[in-house]
Amino acid sequence: MRLSRKLAIQALVLQLVAAVALPCVCFGQSVLSKAVRTSPSMEPALSHPGQIKEADAKLDALRAKTGRRPNIVWIVIDDMGWGDPGVYGGGAVVGAATPNIDRLANQGLMMTSVYSQPTCTPTRSAILTGRLPVRTGLTRPILAGDKLTKNPWADESSLPKILGEAGYKTVLAGKWHVGEAIGMRPHDVGFDEFYGFYEAEKEISQGVDKRRYPDLVLNPERLEMLRKTGSSDSLIHGWKGGRTEEVEKIDSIDKMAEADRVVRDFTLAKIKELSQGQEPFFLEHCFMKVHADNFASKEFEGKSGSKYPYKDDVVEVDAYIGDIVKALDDAGVLDNTFVFITSDNGPQLDSWPDTGYTPFRGGKASAWEGGVRVPGVAYWRGMIKPGRQSDGLFDLMDLFNTSLHFAGATDKIPQDRYIDGIDQASYLLADDGESNREKVFMWSESNLMAMRMYEYKIHVKVIETHAQWLGIDMTTISQVGLAPWLFNLYIDPKEEYPVGHRMNAFLASMAAELKAHGATFKQYPPKDIGLGQ
Ligand code: CA
Repeated sequence: MRLSRKLAIQALVLQLVAAVALPCVCFGQSVLSKAVRTSPSMEPALSHPGQIKEADAKLDALRAKTGRRPNIVWIVIDDMGWGDPGVYGGGAVVGAATPNIDRLANQGLMMTSVYSQPTCTPTRSAILTGRLPVRTGLTRPILAGDKLTKNPWADESSLPKILGEAGYKTVLAGKWHVGEAIGMRPHDVGFDEFYGFYEAEKEISQGVDKRRYPDLVLNPERLEMLRKTGSSDSLIHGWKGGRTEEVEKIDSIDKMAEADRVVRDFTLAKIKELSQGQEPFFLEHCFMKVHADNFASKEFEGKSGSKYPYKDDVVEVDAYIGDIVKALDDAGVLDNTFVFITSDNGPQLDSWPDTGYTPFRGGKASAWEGGVRVPGVAYWRGMIKPGRQSDGLFDLMDLFNTSLHFAGATDKIPQDRYIDGIDQASYLLADDGESNREKVFMWSESNLMAMRMYEYKIHVKVIETHAQWLGIDMTTISQVGLAPWLFNLYIDPKEEYPVGHRMNAFLASMAAELKAHGATFKQYPPKDIGLGQ
């Protein structure tokens, strides 16, 4: 390791510990904590032995019936707000009904405290590694022109890689956004097959939408400069081993509008094919929508109550989720498939009105609840009791450990690096299961911002906006003042009224938890890949 990078990492660790330098703190477990640390490299978890037994009995019975491990299907929507689906209080109320998401939530487990990372790339890499972006180096989206100093995936153990070794077929359909250089593509990091886009919707639409980006689209010289950055604007089909084909270039708004339909068609055909095979499968279906810029596809134009493109696209995404679950049922594998539906971060307020809804403070890119609290529906017919709702904490990184539990591969979780995910299989499967997670840590790039513990949330740094709707483009990150900003989310879900030093016992306890979190970076130093540590 170069000396300068080593020093940069050491500086980050010191900065982390200094960020939580509060009075009355001690290292290790605080008085408020019940979580148990079973290994120095694993995040402490709450212990529920009874529900683990119940969940494993269910899994054993299913395996005895089917003779194989279950399939795993994640459906990741881009930038959808917590308040968009009907069951979360949105739907027709905000101009876009979501009958399919609502039905699956009502027939499964609807979770109200699911947390993502603040932006796309961090979430997408974290859920596939079970590790915080600051540990893998993927702290923010990779943008056109970024020069990475190393391939973050080279020494990571991704979920598809581990599942592949455990006998699974693995496919990523749709948006990737975690690197498009050779060695970083989905089919380079563990997936058997990739069919989709390397980039986010806006990275492609900025090259075709002359109404939004006339200074680029109508200026051939600049457009050429953008192309030279190597940023892909094509639908890609790739296979493990490196074979990669460009299926279609997205050179018009009309083509952009139909991108999710094309990927949906691939997923439906792939489900049919994989269901006939001998191996279980892991399918990650990632929508391009509803990330700005939204363009209604032909079939869905004007189909929402609102008629705005974002809302039409919510209706489209919801319809395709219905199609995907129906395809699993038609293929006879629905009872043996764990389905999880979520969004990779909160709504992007900067693109209003081309954006979603959250009842919480802030939006995408912030550590306020609006940025990181997302919808989360776990559906598994016959395995997850219908009609469950829970406010238990769930970090999307928990999907890593939980999916490996379902696959019978928890022994393959790496021990030589820190894993932030927690095994939530028992929470999801036991009829009255409770979350095994006590705390969620919120980071913005390499800044430790906040932590939720039970219904409390402590901010040690805050993102402040300087214009109401500009949550990315006009913000500053500030250190908090005399006391950290401590909110009780049950009585103040919008994080407006800190209870601060008047809850001193909890404040010290939570600061101790932040210290313990910081200490994990001393033993397991973060990785710098050149995205600005
Ligand atoms: Ca996103």
